Amino acid sequence: MRHLYVHVPFCPTICPYCDFHALLRSKDAVAGYLERLEVEAAALYQRYPDPLRTLYLGGGTPSFLRDSELERVFAILPWRLAADAEVTLEANPATLSKKRLQHLRRLGVNRLSIGVQSFDDAVLLRLGRAHKSRAALTAVESALEGGFRVSLDLMLGLPGQNVSADLETASALGVGHVSAYTLQIETGTPFALNGIRTDRDEEAEAFLLARRILQRAGLVRYEVSNYARPGEESQHNLAYWRMNAWGGLGPAAASHFFGGSPGVVSRRLTNPPLPRWRKGEPPFEEKITPLEHVKEALMMGLRTSAGVDLKELAQRTRLRDLELVITNAAEQAVSAGYLRRSGVLLRPSHAGLDRLHQVVISLWQGLESAYSEP
Ligand code: SF4
Repeated sequence: MRHLYVHVPFCPTICPYCDFHALLRSKDAVAGYLERLEVEAAALYQRYPDPLRTLYLGGGTPSFLRDSELERVFAILPWRLAADAEVTLEANPATLSKKRLQHLRRLGVNRLSIGVQSFDDAVLLRLGRAHKSRAALTAVESALEGGFRVSLDLMLGLPGQNVSADLETASALGVGHVSAYTLQIETGTPFALNGIRTDRDEEAEAFLLARRILQRAGLVRYEVSNYARPGEESQHNLAYWRMNAWGGLGPAAASHFFGGSPGVVSRRLTNPPLPRWRKGEPPFEEKITPLEHVKEALMMGLRTSAGVDLKELAQRTRLRDLELVITNAAEQAVSAGYLRRSGVLLRPSHAGLDRLHQVVISLWQGLESAYSEP
């Protein structure tokens, strides 16, 4: 395990479209969280003590913790970091003063994922965000001046949004990474209950604009919604998309480990939400069979322009004739120009990335008919 995710569930406000595991903070809730995190980190470290290549503090809004609380999080984690480790913190722009940035640097953070969403104050207000456009611009500029790698989160296709203006502003800032997502309105959230909907056609158009504007600024699309200058890709997220092993600490965090028992390639463990996690309730465990592992690896790997290494997948899962089965299942998508085969790699084209769901379903059907029990 060389990748670690730490979920920090506290947020300054709860956005009306969000169903992440996020809560408003209180001193007692944070103290209880830190206490349990220490116990969980020590137990995971005993089993997986190797130095980390990536550490990712996500949430929630980890930058909403106070300086002393963030210091405690870093003190709690017993792992050493590899020399070139990527240490990312998700941050709300309003929490990134110059002093705060210096503190983060001292703690070892070298990459910030800043939740900007839009540069239009009216749009931010409708989204219920806890920051203004000016704060976002200042935060990004100060983070770049402070030597951080910066990833900027933008939403696309928001009601009333001037998408190209937002994308142009983002690319003019000179960041190395942009995550450009469409708004997901989750069931049961205030947005869903108030009937707020996004328009599919507008979203598709916004995706095209993102590709055009960000690529022109040297940010290459390396995943469905992620763009980076070469070398600035998120190494942590790539570990997820490659289905590597990773550990997850904190309420609702997930881990993925290899091995376990015969007929099982890997295990996914998902922690319970905060109150049960605080009491030490163990994670929910799913055992992933070779066929399920291949299906997930295709779904995740084909999100990225690097694609899936079929040889490695065959070695991991030991499914007979796996390369051949996938090659046959991919035939139609290859002729349609959605997938490309180069050596052991199966990679999506831009058109394939835009139709990922359809492409993956056709591969899954081929796998199921090849490996279903007679
Ligand atoms: S800041 Fe992020 S995690 Fe927190 S409520 Fe808003 S969308 Fe959810």
